[in-house]
Amino acid sequence: MSRAEQVAAGLAAVRRRIADACEAAGRPADDVSLVVVTKFFPASDVRLLADLGVTDVGENRHQEAAEKAAECADLGLRWHFIGALQSNKAAAVAAYADVVESVDRAKLVGPLDRGAGERVLDVLLQVSLDAPGSGNRAGADPATLGDLADAVVSAEHLRLRGLMAVAPLPSPGGLTPDEAFARLAEVREAFVAAHPSATVLSAGMSGDLEHAIAHGATHVRVGSAVLGPRPAVK
Ligand SMILES: *Cc1c(COP(=O)(O)O)cnc(C)c1O
Repeated sequence: MSRAEQVAAGLAAVRRRIADACEAAGRPADDVSLVVVTKFFPASDVRLLADLGVTDVGENRHQEAAEKAAECADLGLRWHFIGALQSNKAAAVAAYADVVESVDRAKLVGPLDRGAGERVLDVLLQVSLDAPGSGNRAGADPATLGDLADAVVSAEHLRLRGLMAVAPLPSPGGLTPDEAFARLAEVREAFVAAHPSATVLSAGMSGDLEHAIAHGATHVRVGSAVLGPRPAVK
């Protein structure tokens, strides 16, 4: 199989899973958008994806993302930054990203707003679904979302679009992905009541996208199920 055939097969399988999950949840198939996570994979794969109709790609490391976005600038893709964001890199990320999904503290707002220049940058707030104190994965404590949202709303070049989350790593006594996304749905309900236009919910990856769609995800971020296993080292 050529690489193009592999990618086409992976993409078709994931699109089928999304359609099936939407049907199972009683949601229209176009309710859920696919962001293909291309981290660790070459720009040539991004080109194949664009040929296959993919419009949104996700990256989690600034240097790699910046290079790939420049190499693929002719494709008209929407670039989602989904990784841990250092405040000293935030302005640089805002220069090429169309959506920053991993905003988890107010300190990022100023640099993102400046880095966006005259563009408008879509922002999602990353919510932690970890047990308090477990510190495994990034994200804001749900209790701090109100203040963080206020900071984003008051920034001239940022547009608050919704929430993003990653299911916690498995741990004894920890939440399953289904439980974690059920919790996320509650957090989101309260959030959207306060910010009615911030309806995006980015949740679900290769292993758990069905659970995320059952709990209201509007965007799934899928890497390995489309592109295959990531190389261990770049
Ligand atoms: C890598 C990554 C994904 C995609 O993970 P897969 O398991 O390969 O689908 C999704 N979201 C975030 C935040 C990631 O870092």
